[in-house]
Amino acid sequence: MEKQEIYDVVIKNLPVGFSIVDLEGTIVDFNPIAEEITGYSREEVINKPHFEILHGTLDRDSCPLLKHALSLKEQAIAVETTIKKKNGEQITLSVTTAPLLDEDGGLSGAVELFRDISEAKQRERERKNILSMFAHDMKNPVTTAGGFLSRLLAGKAGALTEKQKSYLETIREELYKVSDLIADFLEFSRIGAKAYRPVPRPFNIRKNMNNAVEAAKIEADKKGITILFEVSEEMPPTILADPAMIDRVIANLLDNAITYTGKGGTIVVRLSDADNDILVSVTDTGRGIPEEHLPYIFDAFYRISRDTKGSGLGLFIAKTIIEAHGGRIWAESKRDKGSSFSFTLKQ
Ligand code: ADP
Repeated sequence: MEKQEIYDVVIKNLPVGFSIVDLEGTIVDFNPIAEEITGYSREEVINKPHFEILHGTLDRDSCPLLKHALSLKEQAIAVETTIKKKNGEQITLSVTTAPLLDEDGGLSGAVELFRDISEAKQRERERKNILSMFAHDMKNPVTTAGGFLSRLLAGKAGALTEKQKSYLETIREELYKVSDLIADFLEFSRIGAKAYRPVPRPFNIRKNMNNAVEAAKIEADKKGITILFEVSEEMPPTILADPAMIDRVIANLLDNAITYTGKGGTIVVRLSDADNDILVSVTDTGRGIPEEHLPYIFDAFYRISRDTKGSGLGLFIAKTIIEAHGGRIWAESKRDKGSSFSFTLKQ
């Protein structure tokens, strides 16, 4: 079979939208799924600029390939973009763009592969809305119940027997767990909203980490876990980041390390500088994370087992925060040997 015939069969039957654009961004090929997704026929788009049809704008800079990748030549890039179909309907596309090179290695254009992900996006929005409504409605009763519980425990409604006290303390512990879940659900539902952006200012991360370690020692002591804090000498006095958000990440990593480490274990928290970044790591001697779970632990709602408290959102929120700061977060772990979570931030 001729190469051209194979190409035609593959492109015609490809289950995703397919388009080839030249160096000017003009469409030179468009397959049947691309016609179905956009509502435009092949004839209507051939020789027309692709920006509006695939990136939803007339701005050439909106195309990641033309903007960034022309100089890199081999990189494929995935973006999400909102477009208007021919009938005016607004849809969200996931577009993967890869450069096309000629025989001499020169750039001759690009392939764009795309899927309509509007339904998945809609489901995600609905899930966030339901969670947000649920968390808002739960928040007030939980706060009120906590308030009355504190009064009872303080003896404001009369003296309590030791047994009554111990039951009420257990109720309070459980209420804290519900309240943590609500806080996670609320934060998750805010992610993606315009207001959920870091507001960076210079702050002393060493001091904040020290406070976080001291606060974590209260819980750690109950399990006989030792927490050590090591800081490298070269650390700059301040970094530029959103202090509340970074505190949230550090508290979450410490909380996980305590939750997933057995009695008598050790947690080492390190702060060091690495080239132009600062590096934070939290290493524990806990149960570890089996290899097959490691790629998924930063996904929303992912939990390895249900035998501990938690929403499965902590690491997802941490990743969102660190990436919004331009940093990187990752985990290394061995089952039964312990885990190490690290993240970088620009200095
Ligand atoms: P959770 O609220 O369940 O702790 P996270 O998003 O913080 O949610 O973590 C996701 C999952 O990753 C946890 O349920 C746990 O199974 C695993 N995990 C996180 N940190 C550790 C750790 N330090 N040691 C072992 N497992 C961990």
